[in-house]
Amino acid sequence: VLRVRDVRKEFRGTVVLDGLDLDVPEHGVVVLIGASGSGKSTLLRCANLLEPISDGSIHLDGEHITDPRVDPDRVRRRIGMVFQSFNLFPHMSVLDNVTLAPRRVHRRDRAEAAERARELLDRVGLLEKADEYPDRLSGGQQQRVAIVRALVNSPRLLLLDEVTSALDPELVGEVLDLVRGLRDEGMTMLLATHEMGFARKVADTVCFLDGGRVLEQGPPEQVLGDPEQPRTRRFLQRII
Ligand code: ATP
Ligand code: MG
Repeated sequence: VLRVRDVRKEFRGTVVLDGLDLDVPEHGVVVLIGASGSGKSTLLRCANLLEPISDGSIHLDGEHITDPRVDPDRVRRRIGMVFQSFNLFPHMSVLDNVTLAPRRVHRRDRAEAAERARELLDRVGLLEKADEYPDRLSGGQQQRVAIVRALVNSPRLLLLDEVTSALDPELVGEVLDLVRGLRDEGMTMLLATHEMGFARKVADTVCFLDGGRVLEQGPPEQVLGDPEQPRTRRFLQRII
């Protein structure tokens, strides 16, 4: 579904991604790990065309989306993205938060968008909160709403950046369960996390980012349990 080739990203002369290659296959869950500053968020933002890349290419379903002639809005309709801070609009109800994207981007009619949103909220157990404002919800509930918002366009690919790191430990579980449920339904996902337990539970493939490249990748048991690269081993020892 997503194919990243030889991607380079510089911020004012600082190289953040340095010839990075990565594939996310259909129904696959690829988890990015690596030290703070290793470029995980940058890669996700580049994939969603929130940041222009300096070199290389990214393809989504075979389409060259980093071609400058491509309309980024059209591409983003096929990608859902969720951030660490839930980014819900405080002055809008849960339902309006969720349906904002389809109304703005899709120009679909409001009733249809609301129906799909209610269906998704029901699935994550939050239908009764549809008319509440975000500040009346727990962090875990807010993050589930943010994930529903990313799903409402039926994206081909879901990008998740540290979706549990702003949550109190007792709220992490409900978001993890939602992500695992999506995986079981076959959603294709690329996500970044600092939680190795999360990575182990959801990943098909774990990629260790170092020096702007994928230094090591493989099934979670291998990369997290018995890494080949000394740098991966050192990283894992430091954080566990
Ligand atoms: P973390 O685990 O802390 O979230 P990360 O792996 O997500 O880290 P990035 O946020 O991708 O890392 O940052 C990679 C590097 O790019 C960092 O050195 C950061 O300072 C730099 N960087 C990111 N965004 C910008 C920006 N808009 N302008 C300049 N430098 C940036
Ligand atoms: Mg980050």
